[in-house]
Amino acid sequence: MSDTASKLFVVSGPSGAGKGTLVARVREELPNLGLTVSATTREPREGEVDGTSYYFLTPDEFQRRVDADEFVEWAHVHGHCYGTLKSEVERNLLQGSSLILEIDVQGALQVRERMPEAVLIFIKPPSLEVLAERLRNRGTETEDAIALRLSNARRELALQDRYDEIVVNDDLDEAVDQLIGIIENYERN
Ligand code: ADP
Ligand code: 5GP
Repeated sequence: MSDTASKLFVVSGPSGAGKGTLVARVREELPNLGLTVSATTREPREGEVDGTSYYFLTPDEFQRRVDADEFVEWAHVHGHCYGTLKSEVERNLLQGSSLILEIDVQGALQVRERMPEAVLIFIKPPSLEVLAERLRNRGTETEDAIALRLSNARRELALQDRYDEIVVNDDLDEAVDQLIGIIENYERN
């Protein structure tokens, strides 16, 4: 018998802080950790696959699902809509393992309201300068989009105290170890 309990983890933090990279690394180590696929109205980036990276929806389709109360949480982020479908959370929880949501700060605070037992983890860049450099190096956004993400980052950093745990993603290996430690610790308790 397992002596661990399945938990809902919410990972958020500024765009470019390294959430996607960290979560992918953690899931290599903890393959039973479920990950929800979010819905978004933004355009797919090169290499992104519908149904795997995101469910790419038109604004009308997204709104239809909002009206039908199909989301656990949703928010306007960097000029587009993003949300977690209830069906995604249910699909994962039915499998009986822990689940990780990688969502923005507004969404995380909505999850806290609806599911107070959720564990909120904030991923923080070492500095705003490093954050800007990572966004530029990633090469997925225009300079305008980077400027918007950086100004949103300031607002997001101001909310870090509302989280249960903070991980500074400076050295990647250390941040991965820290995140795994947090997840295993909550699963034991
Ligand atoms: P997010 O999902 O938070 O938007 P990403 O995971 O896409 O961020 O990371 C942004 C960029 O920074 C990517 O190019 C990624 O390879 C890089 N990156 C992530 N973590 C680190 C780290 N600890 N050190 C250096 N570069 C990193
Ligand atoms: P990106 O466009 O870079 O993939 O994601 C931009 C932002 O949207 C990130 O901060 C990411 O965490 C957030 N995001 C992705 N999925 C969701 C979601 O389902 N809900 C919310 N609220 N934010 C999300």
